[in-house]
Amino acid sequence: MGKTFETIDPRTGEVIARVAEGDKEDVDLAVKAARKAFDDGPWPRMSGAERGRIMMKYADIIDKHIEELAALDAIDAGKLFSWGKAVDIPTVARLIRYYAGAADKIHGEVLKMSRELHGYTLREPIGVAGHIIPWNFPSSMFFMMSAPALAAGCTMIVKPAEQTPLSALFYGHLAKQAGMPDGVINVITGYGPTAGAAIASHMDIDKVCFTGSTEVGRKIMQAAATSNLKQVSLELGGKSPLLIFDDADVDKAADLALLGILYNKANMFPLCDQLNDEFRLKCRGEICVASSRVFVQEGIYDEFVKKLKEKAKDWVVGDPFDPRSRLGPQVDKQQFDKILSYIEHGKREGASLLTGGKPVGKKGYFIEPTVFTDVKEDMMIATDEIFGPVMSLMKFKTIDEAIKKANNTKYGLAAGIVTKNLDVANTVSRSIRAGTIWINCYFAFDQDCSYGGYKMSGFGRHLGIEALHKFLQVKSVVTPIYNSPW
Ligand code: ADP
Repeated sequence: MGKTFETIDPRTGEVIARVAEGDKEDVDLAVKAARKAFDDGPWPRMSGAERGRIMMKYADIIDKHIEELAALDAIDAGKLFSWGKAVDIPTVARLIRYYAGAADKIHGEVLKMSRELHGYTLREPIGVAGHIIPWNFPSSMFFMMSAPALAAGCTMIVKPAEQTPLSALFYGHLAKQAGMPDGVINVITGYGPTAGAAIASHMDIDKVCFTGSTEVGRKIMQAAATSNLKQVSLELGGKSPLLIFDDADVDKAADLALLGILYNKANMFPLCDQLNDEFRLKCRGEICVASSRVFVQEGIYDEFVKKLKEKAKDWVVGDPFDPRSRLGPQVDKQQFDKILSYIEHGKREGASLLTGGKPVGKKGYFIEPTVFTDVKEDMMIATDEIFGPVMSLMKFKTIDEAIKKANNTKYGLAAGIVTKNLDVANTVSRSIRAGTIWINCYFAFDQDCSYGGYKMSGFGRHLGIEALHKFLQVKSVVTPIYNSPW
C-alpha cells in the first residue's frame, strides 16, 4: 500500500520507472474486486458471444498499440523491438481472437444415463483466477494465461514478474478501453514472495495459474494446499533435448540448434530469410522452451561442431532497438550473474567452451551465445535450467542411447528431433517423456496446439482448447424423465 519499486532497463542497468509495490493488502483489494465482478457482475453472465465481442475489441485496440507495447517489452525485458513488433505483440492479439472465437462454443454433453433419468453436463467458469507471470515473455505469457480464462467467463488477478511490470500495466489500461467490465482484469505489480505468495494462499481465489521456476511452483502448490485447496496449474522449468540424427542436413540442424537455445531474446529474421518457406513457418515461435541439451549422432558430430561455431558468430549481441542485433540483453543483474556463474561452473567441471562464455560490453546485461562441448550428463550445465544462452553439446551412437539421454532429466517440457527417417521420428517421439515434441522444427507453437509439462515441468496446458478447459468446471444436472413426484 503506497510503496513503490524500481524497474530497470537491462540495456543500461538504469531505472526506467517506479511502479506500485503491491502486497497482501493490495491483493486482498484486487481479489474483492474480482470476486464481486464474478459473483454479481456481467462478465460470467453475459453470453459467450458478447464476451467474445469485447475480447475482439480488446485485440483490435492492442493491434493499434503494437509499437508502444513492443517498446515497453524492449526497455523493460530486453526483447528485440523489431521482433516484438512483428511477432510477439501480433501474437497476443491473435491469441485473444482465438479464445474470443471459442467463448460462444463452450458446452457440456447430454449423458446416456443407465436409468430413466435425463442427465447433462454444464461447463461453468471456475471463478476468480490468479495468474502469476514470468519475465521471459511478459506479453505472450500474460495472454496465454489470461485469454482462455476471459473466454471461460472468469475474473482475474494478474501479477507480472517484478522485472517486467510495464506492458502488463498498459494491457490493464487497454482492457478498460475495450469495455471490459470493472473487476474482470486486475493487474497487481509487486514481488513474488509478497504479492505472488498472497495470491497463492488467498482464500477467495479459485484457481492459481503459475509459470516460472520449479522451485517457486512447489511453493505455490504448498500454499494452495494449506489455504483453500484452490486448483493449481503449473508450467515450470525445462532442460529440453534436441536430438540430431546422422541423416540430418547439418547446416539446417546447426541453425535450428542455435535458434533452440537463443530464441527468447533473438531476432529470427536473418534465419527466416535463409530458410525455405515451409521451414520458416515452422520456426515462428512465441515462447522459450530452450533446447539447452543438444545431442548429435557421432557420424555428423565433428561437422556439426564446426558449423555451429561458424554460425554462432552471426548472432550479433546488442541493443534490442538496433535492427542489426540478433540477441538482446538478459533481463536483470541477478539473471546475468547466475548465467555467468553457470558458465564458470561448466569450465571448472571440465567442459570445453566452443564459443562465447563472456559478457558483451561494459554496460547492461549482455552475454555471448555460449556453447559447451565435452559435456558429461551429470554436469550442472547439463542438468540445471540456466535460462540463458548456454548450450550443452553431447554425442550419441544409437537411437536407444539418444532416448535414454534425452529422458535423463527431471524435466519434461519439450524435445526436438531432426531426422529424415520416419521410423526414427516416430519411435523417438513416442519414447520421450515431454509435453511437446517438434520433429524437424523447433518452437513451432500455434494457438491451437497446447503445450505444458511432463514430470517436474508441471501440469496443466497452455494454448489450445485444453487451456480453456482449465478455467471451466463440469457440473452434472440430473432429473427424472417420467413419474417425477412433483
Ligand atoms: P523465473 O525463473 O521466471 O525468475 P520465478 O519462479 O522466480 O521465475 O518467478 C516467476 C513469477 O513467480 C514472478 O511473477 C515472481 O514474482 C513470482 N514468484 C516468485 N516467488 C514467488 C512466491 N514465493 N510465491 C508466489 N509467486 C512468486
